[in-house]
Amino acid sequence: MAKKNPHLDPNTFRDSLGTVRDDGKRNWVYPKKVSGIFYRYRTYLSWLLLAILFAGPFITVEGRPWLLFNIFERKFIIFGAVFWPQDTHLLIFLLLILFVFIILFTVVFGRVWCGWACPQTLFMEMVFRKIEYLIEGDANQQRKLNEAPWNSEKIWKKGLKITVFGLISLAIGHLVMAYLIGVEQVLDIVTQPPSAHMAGFMGLVAFSGIFMFIFTWFREQACIVVCPYGRLQGVFLDNNSINVMYDYVRGEPRGPIRKNQIETNPKGDCVDCNLCVQVCPTGIDIRNGIQMECVNCTACIDVCDEVMVKVDRPKGLIRYASENSVKEGFQKLITGRVKAYSVVLVLLVVGFIALIATRDELSATVTRFPGMTYQMRDNGTVSNLYQIILINKTFESQTVDLQSLAPGMDVEILGDQVWVLEPQSKLEGRFFLVQDQQEVLTPQQKVKLSLRHEGQEIDEINTSFMAPVAEK
Ligand code: SF4
Ligand code: SF4
Repeated sequence: MAKKNPHLDPNTFRDSLGTVRDDGKRNWVYPKKVSGIFYRYRTYLSWLLLAILFAGPFITVEGRPWLLFNIFERKFIIFGAVFWPQDTHLLIFLLLILFVFIILFTVVFGRVWCGWACPQTLFMEMVFRKIEYLIEGDANQQRKLNEAPWNSEKIWKKGLKITVFGLISLAIGHLVMAYLIGVEQVLDIVTQPPSAHMAGFMGLVAFSGIFMFIFTWFREQACIVVCPYGRLQGVFLDNNSINVMYDYVRGEPRGPIRKNQIETNPKGDCVDCNLCVQVCPTGIDIRNGIQMECVNCTACIDVCDEVMVKVDRPKGLIRYASENSVKEGFQKLITGRVKAYSVVLVLLVVGFIALIATRDELSATVTRFPGMTYQMRDNGTVSNLYQIILINKTFESQTVDLQSLAPGMDVEILGDQVWVLEPQSKLEGRFFLVQDQQEVLTPQQKVKLSLRHEGQEIDEINTSFMAPVAEK
């Protein structure tokens, strides 16, 4: 016999998770298939967003990817703009902007993102769930199939489902890798033996396995247990935030109605059909109020609207609304919080634009060569060895050289006398600073170097020079 789910009890629902039974086991959610206007629009939007998501790594601008999140080399390309490790402050700024924007958006519109655009929901509800309905049928048929012994029908259906889920997980794993290392590298990995790209191959296997696990078994737990955004809702939302809401003013007292009883036994509009619970992919009862588990998927709106039409009541018993609009009958969108977040967001955007406009196109980092102090030379000079990391953030190749601004000190670049940087590239070079020992006045002196491009100084670099002072 199915165990009672304490989460659906209006007296105890805040004490437990909708997906955990009172015996502590997972309450597997079998959401009933839903149809309706919101579901239709969500389906159309999901096609568009999935198309963009899969096309993303293939979009290039002047031969470079439009989006790349190469965490391994710490190189990021966002909408065509390249960010190097030296641009970490810009990325932090960008993340702050994103964070404040998300807060602002959530304060006003609740979890619209979760229901309509989050990749987890898109794949789970619009891809994997639809395939599951196609192969195993609606909620009741799925439940029966899971409880049935392993006969040929069950083996066939489960086998087919796992195969299709596996193939899609492989596609998503490759997609994620393409965002991380680029399409060409992924192509190299899949067209060459695993031993040629062991790390990349392991990455593909790991990501595909993770997605298989998430969409086959973990499912709504990703939103309820793992996603930090979901868990922060209690902080973001207030009584003016718009959410999927049950209109308890209109709906209560709930109970089944018969047309000829309406006059003698008036009830609220909720006919207690429980369909809003049966379609919910996170296994909650929206009539208990706003809950952390609700991903605002709108399934309960669609199904309740259908019920309302059947019992000849106005649609919208469950709808997008705020607590205040249900309780007090008014909706205030521009609150003090919204104004404050908007001001912070504008300031951050202005700051970010200013930083982008003034960032160096060529950057250099000079460090002393590790483990070495100075070298005495036969000709009476003394030298220090340095390494330099040059980054060309432009889309043209650049030739740079280095000059010392300290009197009597020369720069000897190892190899050629200049460094040639390809567009959007990083180069590691080495050079000596050399001084006649007779001119050394202090064992450690501060030195300024001039990084030059086509005879023009583009950066001034500070370092130090170590040498023994000559005995007089
Ligand atoms: S679907 Fe609507 S009418 Fe049915 S139980 Fe839910 S809120 Fe009540
Ligand atoms: S309560 Fe409604 S909107 Fe929220 S997750 Fe469940 S079905 Fe979706």
